[in-house]
Amino acid sequence: MIFTTLGETEEIGASCHYLMADGSGILLDAGADPEKEGTASMPDLDRIADHPDWPVDHAVVTHGHHDHLGSLPMVVQRFPHVQVHMTSATRQLANILLPASARLQRRKVKEGSTTVDPLFDEDDVEASSYVYMAHPLENEFDLSGYNAGFEISGEFYDAGHVLGSVGVMVRFVDKGEQRNLFFTGDTGVQSQTIIPGASYPDEQVDILVLESTLGADPVAETVTRRSEEKRLGEALSTVLNRGGTVLMPVFALGRGQEMLALIDRYKKRGLIHQDVPVYTAGMMRAIADVYDKTRMSTPRLNEEFQVYGVPQQRLPRSESGLNEALKQPGIMCVGSGMMFEQTISNKIARQIVSNEKNGVFFVGYAREDSPGDLLIKARLEGKGTDVVLHPARGPQPVMCDVDKFRFSGHSHRRDLLKLVDKLRPSKIVLVHGEAKAKAWMAENIRFHHPDIEVHTPTPGQVLEL
Ligand SMILES: [Zn+2]
Ligand SMILES: [Zn+2]
Repeated sequence: MIFTTLGETEEIGASCHYLMADGSGILLDAGADPEKEGTASMPDLDRIADHPDWPVDHAVVTHGHHDHLGSLPMVVQRFPHVQVHMTSATRQLANILLPASARLQRRKVKEGSTTVDPLFDEDDVEASSYVYMAHPLENEFDLSGYNAGFEISGEFYDAGHVLGSVGVMVRFVDKGEQRNLFFTGDTGVQSQTIIPGASYPDEQVDILVLESTLGADPVAETVTRRSEEKRLGEALSTVLNRGGTVLMPVFALGRGQEMLALIDRYKKRGLIHQDVPVYTAGMMRAIADVYDKTRMSTPRLNEEFQVYGVPQQRLPRSESGLNEALKQPGIMCVGSGMMFEQTISNKIARQIVSNEKNGVFFVGYAREDSPGDLLIKARLEGKGTDVVLHPARGPQPVMCDVDKFRFSGHSHRRDLLKLVDKLRPSKIVLVHGEAKAKAWMAENIRFHHPDIEVHTPTPGQVLEL
């Protein structure tokens, strides 16, 4: 079996791997690198084209995050015969997220914030969407290619990461021998507020392709969701009780909906007053709708819970409406999670950070030097430290509360090691993590399981597994 990775970088990169078994070629994920734009953000599909005997028969998309889905229209354009497999929830999300990505690329050119041509438009997205096939969890589907000798099958397992997320088991015959490969995608073994933790195959796995996002994070394994929930609840009530506004910058898919569920819980427990308004905006609202529509058909901790059952208001679009909303205590749960310059969370932060009654609470990852990260660091230096959130605004003193809470949809590294114990693979391919994250994972797997062959492939490296 041949395995090569097409989108790995020193950072997290774009999730996209190619495997060829017994004449059938399968892409695992079709992501785009969120740190880059245009063709530079794409996985290197040329590496497949360099090998005339490497077909692309199928593509499996594990979930709707941009780094796993964002290059799908390009993949379908490039390999018009490809069949694309995902869960029904991911397909519904893709039909919201990919057109939004096309619009964003066009808007950036129009606003002059990039000179890079858009990769695709809404028509390309629609054209590619006809080949998406949806499969239920734990149900085998066909992944045999045109030239397949034996039948190859795929099977989805709930990944506990965001709505619709899965890991995929690929079962194939190699040199007359029945083998399997399990790709975790992004995986979270611990339950969140809306979605339960991952479930994994019971059988022994031959090749495990394992994500390593939190491999270099020693803190994640020391905090519990319960303690973070308590800390966030107290931080929210402190700001609201003194009449302030809380800004929670969130990712539109996953963290946004989970936070609304948590706010609902705080209100029911009386930690936050029932009447405190909660504002949401943009794509997060459309995605919440998919969460609600699929609540009976996808894994849930409580299928009665609806994101829209949590009273929320659309964030006012006008300046005057927004200023009015900022006068009362309230929670603004809006994107982007890292507070990028052109987003609503950045705009609101600029309006509230210099007033000490307010609070900005991060509940997800903010990469180094993103405006979110700059704000966290400035506040750590002390109240009143200047921050530049937007060049047009210039430096402003940070007077409000700023804090960071851990609500990851990824398993921490000790849980990833436990997964290795459970699946007992003979070979592991580490993917989707910074170089130091993969290095920690490799070292610890080798220490506990010297018999396991561990690979951390570099882009272009072809593994014979
Ligand atoms: Zn993800
Ligand atoms: Zn990811």
